[in-house]
Amino acid sequence: MPQELLLQVSPETAASESLLKTHLSKQIKVAVQDIDHVVVLKRSIDARQKAIKINLKLSIFLKGELFQEQKVQLPDYPNVTSAQEVIVVGAGPAGLFAALQLIELGLKPIVVERGKDVRGRRRDLKAINRDHIVDEDSNYCFGEGGAGTYSDGKLYTRSKKRGDVTRVLELFVAFGASPDILVDAHPHIGTNKLPQIIQDMREKIIECGGQVLFETRVTDILVKNNEVEGIVTQNGDTILSQKIILATGHSARDIFELLDRKKIFIEAKPFALGVRAEHPQTLIDSIQYSCDYRGEHLPPAPYSIVKQVGGRGMYSFCMCPGGVIAPCATSPGEVVTNGWSPSKRDQATANSGIVIELQLADFKPFAKFGALAGMEFQKSIEQSAWHLAGESQKAPAQRMIDFTQSKVSSDIPKTSYVPGTTSVEMGQVFPGFLTQILREGFKEFGKSMRGYLTNEAILHAPESRTSSPVRIPRDVYTYEHVQIKGLYPCGEGAGYAGGIISAAIDGEKCAQMIATVLKNN
Ligand code: FAD
Repeated sequence: MPQELLLQVSPETAASESLLKTHLSKQIKVAVQDIDHVVVLKRSIDARQKAIKINLKLSIFLKGELFQEQKVQLPDYPNVTSAQEVIVVGAGPAGLFAALQLIELGLKPIVVERGKDVRGRRRDLKAINRDHIVDEDSNYCFGEGGAGTYSDGKLYTRSKKRGDVTRVLELFVAFGASPDILVDAHPHIGTNKLPQIIQDMREKIIECGGQVLFETRVTDILVKNNEVEGIVTQNGDTILSQKIILATGHSARDIFELLDRKKIFIEAKPFALGVRAEHPQTLIDSIQYSCDYRGEHLPPAPYSIVKQVGGRGMYSFCMCPGGVIAPCATSPGEVVTNGWSPSKRDQATANSGIVIELQLADFKPFAKFGALAGMEFQKSIEQSAWHLAGESQKAPAQRMIDFTQSKVSSDIPKTSYVPGTTSVEMGQVFPGFLTQILREGFKEFGKSMRGYLTNEAILHAPESRTSSPVRIPRDVYTYEHVQIKGLYPCGEGAGYAGGIISAAIDGEKCAQMIATVLKNN
């Protein structure tokens, strides 16, 4: 039987198999040559002390003990060409994992996606960055893989359902992600690796007899007697099915408007909003690792911070070490920021959303929009950023201390945000109460993380697509919409997920609910 061991080692030891074996031989008192295999089961960084340690949970195989490498396999997907059809609207993590799960359960997914495949999508991202042109169907939020494709690919979640999380992580590995994501406390994939994984998922869906339709925007949902009958696409085509998984993400404003117009019940939902802050990565490393240089064995440091300011939570969101700030607008006439990182997180800057919890009462000036009040509030801030920065994809920007002192920065250095920035008084982007909280909050952050509050940090506005401003309510047991039979609101856009992993889990759950209903009919 292999021995399991928890221990702390230096980053250098953790990075080298021979150093680790030497360390273990002393620890368990066996000769180095008698240690056959060391398998890492869990890995995390403990940066609480000056001498940073790596926590490891290991399985140690001595000579003579049977060792078999565990390879994660794809499930045995059946061919579903002639099986019952289920429409999946949206090819984000929720839609893709729903489609794969439907196949596993013997059903045929028809995935309908407004955007292009990952390859075609790349050209449109270039157009946003270089030419400031936003394609309303193909951008950082819309297209194959959804909002998660060109992201940092952080795969951690607050979900307590470990079994579901492990299953999703294993599927990512089976589709080509590094097995490291199964052991790291804070796994991530990276923008350079995600597109291939997503493409392989799509190819598997098609190979099994499922369908994936790109550049096919859903413009109507057919409903009769409070039951779905199918969808209509922008070309006027109709696709019929009595089961529809609606996984269109938090930015599908036209879908929210469609549901509202058709009197399909939706409700406003609080979300969070703020700015994206960018620091030199070396500065964040020195704060988090208490050192001048992090060395070659530690990854670029992340950070996570939360404070109560003015009675509200202000916190870091989607922090990207060694990353880049991306223009994430989904319509012309608005500016939206978010962040991504390559798998090595080797860019010179660290960026993070710094956002404030909103409350439904904040949307009062937009009350006439009913359930869409939060969405209109969000839109108004994105549009004001666009006007303020010069009516292009340039982002309004300000140095951090200047912002806290309401002083327009005399210059803004080049940041990772490719479309560029315009120096403004950032307070003009937000309603007064938000500006006030942000100003106070950055001062508080500076007290907890010495060095964080600095004019080397550049704020970009706005970080506004943190989660959906609308909920599409569903039954807690059946996952069906509370009013419309056969409609399964799913993933982040419906208000039931936040991030890649929870969206993927929700997609799988919706597929399972549909399979159960069909089996019992
Ligand atoms: P989405 O991914 O939004 O997918 C919805 C899909 O529906 C889209 O492909 C869209 O084109 C399609 N669609 C919309 N309307 C229609 C229509 N009318 N007809 C047909 N198709 C339609 N999360 C993390 O966990 N880790 C990260 O590191 C991370 N980084 C991010 C970085 C960026 C730049 C962005 C934008 C997001 C990031 N996120 C991250 C958030 C994460 O991507 C989302 O939480 C996740 O993708 C939500 O999944 P979803 O399937 O519910 O929706």
